[in-house]
Amino acid sequence: MLALVAGVAVATDVVFATLFRTQTHEAPLRLLLLVGEVLAGVSVAAAAFRWRYRLSLVAAVLSFVLVAGTGAWIGANSPRLTWFGQMVSHGNRHVRTVALTFDDGPNASTTLRVRDILDAHGVKGTFFSVGKAVDARPDITRALLDDGQLLANHSYHHDYVRWLDPWYHELAHAQTAIEREVHTCPAFFRPPHGQHTPLMALAVHKRHMTMVGWDVSAGDFATTNANLVARRVLGRVRPGSVIDLHDGLDGRVDVDRPVLVRALPMILDGLDKKGLKVVRLDALLHRSGYLPSC
Ligand SMILES: [Zn+2]
Repeated sequence: MLALVAGVAVATDVVFATLFRTQTHEAPLRLLLLVGEVLAGVSVAAAAFRWRYRLSLVAAVLSFVLVAGTGAWIGANSPRLTWFGQMVSHGNRHVRTVALTFDDGPNASTTLRVRDILDAHGVKGTFFSVGKAVDARPDITRALLDDGQLLANHSYHHDYVRWLDPWYHELAHAQTAIEREVHTCPAFFRPPHGQHTPLMALAVHKRHMTMVGWDVSAGDFATTNANLVARRVLGRVRPGSVIDLHDGLDGRVDVDRPVLVRALPMILDGLDKKGLKVVRLDALLHRSGYLPSC
């Protein structure tokens, strides 16, 4: 009987571990999945050979916890996976439009330069703004709105902890700040670092908002090489892509972001050459960018 239970456990673990492995390239996570599979194997072997039933049970439980926990972490941290609730990461793949999205601003030195570059190319972007930065520099956010750029919600504090808040107060906190400062209510929300939970998805759904991830990231927050950023974006972009760039860092208003200012003209020229038209996120997704009220 125990051998049968262990057999089912190992089969289930291996199926899920394989599924989870297809969704991550991170070596530590892949190693954890492998350890889970080895433990499942130990469980079956111990039971089948009447070796040690207690060992079999412990190995099965450990294997299950490890594989399930790793899978949950992968699902929660992915900007594309919808295991934990609805999240949009791209538009129609058959239409040659893309959206440029800018996270973590407004930023004192960069945001309005980004606006000017977009305007010089005759396109508009979508700015996932951090509530505390909007409170610090409402003038920049107001200038974006006046210019016809789309404003969206990217939490209030942009930290590494509050995404686990079961009620996810960050969403309402940022909406309140944006409404107070510029009298508008964004309909799009992007979780900081892409980290999300089913409860966060529920909070977003309750407010009739849309949770948005991305399908193209260039890691522009971690390099000063503008050529590399442009090359990555242009190498990964497809029709319908949502491109994730950063005009700020974690909502810190005074941090300098020259890499984006240098990369953006190259990105815009490259997209133009590929015949990909840049539109705001509301046009890409065919959904209203603002709510009638918060
Ligand atoms: Zn962010």
